[in-house]
Amino acid sequence: MTKVPVEITARHIHLSTKDIKKLFGADYHLKFLKKISQPSDFACKETLKVIGPRASLNKVRVVGPPRSKTQIEITATEARILGIKAPYSVSSHWKKAGSASLVGPKGKIKLKNAVIIPLRHLHLNTKEATKLKLKEGDKVSVAVGTIRRVTFHQITVRVGDKYRMAVHLDTDEANAAGLKTCTLGQLIIKK
Ligand SMILES: [Zn+2]
Repeated sequence: MTKVPVEITARHIHLSTKDIKKLFGADYHLKFLKKISQPSDFACKETLKVIGPRASLNKVRVVGPPRSKTQIEITATEARILGIKAPYSVSSHWKKAGSASLVGPKGKIKLKNAVIIPLRHLHLNTKEATKLKLKEGDKVSVAVGTIRRVTFHQITVRVGDKYRMAVHLDTDEANAAGLKTCTLGQLIIKK
């Protein structure tokens, strides 16, 4: 039985350098707050207001480093509250991604094709993927939780050299399984 770390990803925003300038001013650099799960990413001190047609969310955490395109990741519940039509999508796939506005200390921007509900996924580095005989895009399942034990299916495998093994669930999924913090799940691979 393979155990896998299961981590909970709350709503967050990845910003492009261009949008950082618009929101925080020219020559602004994101400030490091703390390390997060994947070694390449870090939580920033900065937060932003996300505005949808129906409501807004304050203090949504920015995650660095800057990316080529701004991406807002929220849950299905938050999308409903905000009134944003957002697709379930893997990161960096913006087909039909939703629209929202962001408000920072120095400006406001309107974004199209930027809001997604992240699909549950399993990060693996190349070594881990080889060991488990898995490749990018494969689907696996993970059983997790105790009092509300749930088996999550259709977990998309993402392979990258900078990754380390972890399943990422959003807060809706974590609540469904009664999870409060990171835990270990049972990895189920059907070939
Ligand atoms: Zn992830």
